[in-house]
Amino acid sequence: MAYVILDTCNTCGLCLDECPIEAISVGDPIYVIDDTCCEFQECVAVCPEDAIVHEDDVPNDDVPSDDVLNDHVLNDHVPEDAAPEDIENELVNKSLE
Ligand code: SF4
Ligand code: SF4
Repeated sequence: MAYVILDTCNTCGLCLDECPIEAISVGDPIYVIDDTCCEFQECVAVCPEDAIVHEDDVPNDDVPSDDVLNDHVLNDHVPEDAAPEDIENELVNKSLE
């Protein structure tokens, strides 16, 4: 399987007829792509929810990216006038928690 449908799918059905090999079907509760998908990507363009993504790009909400983590740390724990070395130390401390 190359592309997958995320749970943000609103079941509009627009993708269904786009797939030339009929790899998309109505699932419960959302639409699903089976393992015959060969990455034509026609379905991706029509999805109003951007719910069709490559399996390598599926967001993992349990593991915040470094950017999200750094943004959280900088906004919550470091004063605006902090020196660069203080910011670095705060990031290191956060990563050790
Ligand atoms: S990526 Fe291509 S083959 Fe896969 S489900 Fe979408 S249209 Fe079909
Ligand atoms: S086009 Fe997107 S929102 Fe609509 S059924 Fe397909 S995956 Fe779900």
